[in-house]
Amino acid sequence: MSDCVFCKIVAGEIPATVIDSSEHSLAFADISPRQPVHILVIPKSHHANVAELAAADPEALVDLVQLGSRIAAEHTNGSFRFTFNTGADAGQTVFHAHGHITARTPKESGGN
Ligand code: AMP
Ligand code: ZN
Repeated sequence: MSDCVFCKIVAGEIPATVIDSSEHSLAFADISPRQPVHILVIPKSHHANVAELAAADPEALVDLVQLGSRIAAEHTNGSFRFTFNTGADAGQTVFHAHGHITARTPKESGGN
């Protein structure tokens, strides 16, 4: 979608701090982190939210969760949230599916 900020990040048209990628997914730092670890994981294809992604392309959803889980293992001490705000009333502001990986404790800090 031409007016979608996350599609533009996938296309390299606007910058992002890319963390990792996989066949179907891209992970990058949230521009406005709300926790010491705050990484977004998105499908490379446009789907408005995680429910639509699950219905349209379950393989891509599994790929996204696997990439997010790997990133969480690399960037946190194993305690993290992996959340998908779905719908404006739930706080979704970017209508390209994305999971937030958030954690209070980055891996290197060693706490719980
Ligand atoms: P949500 O409120 O669940 O839709 O989350 C959207 C997230 O995208 C917010 O946490 C924003 O800080 C983040 N965000 C918006 N634009 C960008 C961008 N250009 N690069 C990185 N993160 C972004
Ligand atoms: Zn998009």
